[in-house]
Amino acid sequence: MPDSPLPGKSLVARLEQRYHHSELARLIRWMKGKLLPWPLYLFLCGLVLGGLLYLHDYRYSHLYAVRFDGTEVGVVRNVEKVEQYLADLTARCSSLYRMELYPEQEITLIREYRPGESDDVEAVKDALKQRLSFLTDAVMVTVDGVPVAPVSTAEGVKQVEEAICLSFVSSGEGVELLEVDLSEKISGLGCTVSPDLVRSPEEIACLLTRQQPEQELLVASRETIISRDGRNREADWNGPEVHVRSVEQVTVEEQVSFSTSYTYSSQLYLGESRVLTPGKNGLQVATYRVIRENGVERSKETVSNRVLVEPVTRVVEKGTKKRFGWPVSGGGRISQRFHGSHRGIDIAAPLNTAVLAAESGTVVYSGWGDSQGNYIVIRHDAYYTVYLHNCKNLVSVGQSVSRGQTIARLGSTGKSTGPHLHFEIRRRIGPSWGYWNTHPAINPLQFF
Ligand SMILES: [Zn+2]
Repeated sequence: MPDSPLPGKSLVARLEQRYHHSELARLIRWMKGKLLPWPLYLFLCGLVLGGLLYLHDYRYSHLYAVRFDGTEVGVVRNVEKVEQYLADLTARCSSLYRMELYPEQEITLIREYRPGESDDVEAVKDALKQRLSFLTDAVMVTVDGVPVAPVSTAEGVKQVEEAICLSFVSSGEGVELLEVDLSEKISGLGCTVSPDLVRSPEEIACLLTRQQPEQELLVASRETIISRDGRNREADWNGPEVHVRSVEQVTVEEQVSFSTSYTYSSQLYLGESRVLTPGKNGLQVATYRVIRENGVERSKETVSNRVLVEPVTRVVEKGTKKRFGWPVSGGGRISQRFHGSHRGIDIAAPLNTAVLAAESGTVVYSGWGDSQGNYIVIRHDAYYTVYLHNCKNLVSVGQSVSRGQTIARLGSTGKSTGPHLHFEIRRRIGPSWGYWNTHPAINPLQFF
């Protein structure tokens, strides 16, 4: 028969039988033998409970201290929350600046035993938001080794050089750029800077060339560089200068100025002229080689030119005729010149010498005056000529006379000390005939 509980025995009896054989029963039996006092049991229980409580408190009092460059800003229980917030903040600023940024300060999270303190993740987040600044890896643009400003990438250094060269190159129809070179060496040097200092290649080119940035650039610029009112804050910038030399071939259609030639005519008075053929400018297509330094023209050579329309030379006829002829036949001798109250010239000559009309005109007076003696006044276009002290007048008022015609015989009538002609030239003023000596006298010798 198999060894099975006896039938008829109760369940309690079976459990009792099991207990009597168990390890616990044996321990209690052993302890009964040792007869430990009950306070010791109590003490042992307390010890176990205290240990458990201490263990719990020990675990709970361990927090992470967050420090900014060694200065504590708070404690947190959950490291991931801080790390996630830091990562988000960095990503947000990076996208704002469109650069890869990293925190400037050293942030440490160290697990420490901080009994009595509680997790303060919000205070830590606030501190991060307010005190955290960022840095970025950039490339410092240098001109012959002198640092100017950083750009975000090495590619930007090349773009600075291109923008400098382009800023001095003239553009337009007919302009062909043959060469362009920059005297200075533009290079880049890796650096770590605040993202606020990083500039666009165009901004740096404007700085170096001392040029106003274009409007689009202003809008795109960060306000730290150039203000939006268009005023370049870097006008007094004292950085290195750049020198761009460019060679252009410029083809232009341009005017060819006409020249003037002269012919001479005895029909016109001296000083008078008239245009026989009006001049007309020609037209040519010219090609020049232009060398510029920083956009300023330094030399211009003609490479070729093709005349489309020849210029027409202007022809001017100049007069050679003297305004007045000498009024005394045979010349005579000037015995008194034009001066002070003497409003003409005296020409001494033998009595009865022919007195000649100095220019063709109309006789407006032929008669006697107490001091003038016999005298004649002839009207010309712009002048009067006056002949005094004649021994005899040969023409009468209203008569037309021609240049060189004998109008009188030289004498010494009136207030005179010997045979001579007193000759005057008066400029006619206004339309009035007037009395001849109200018109201003001019020195007759200027006409001879
Ligand atoms: Zn006189």
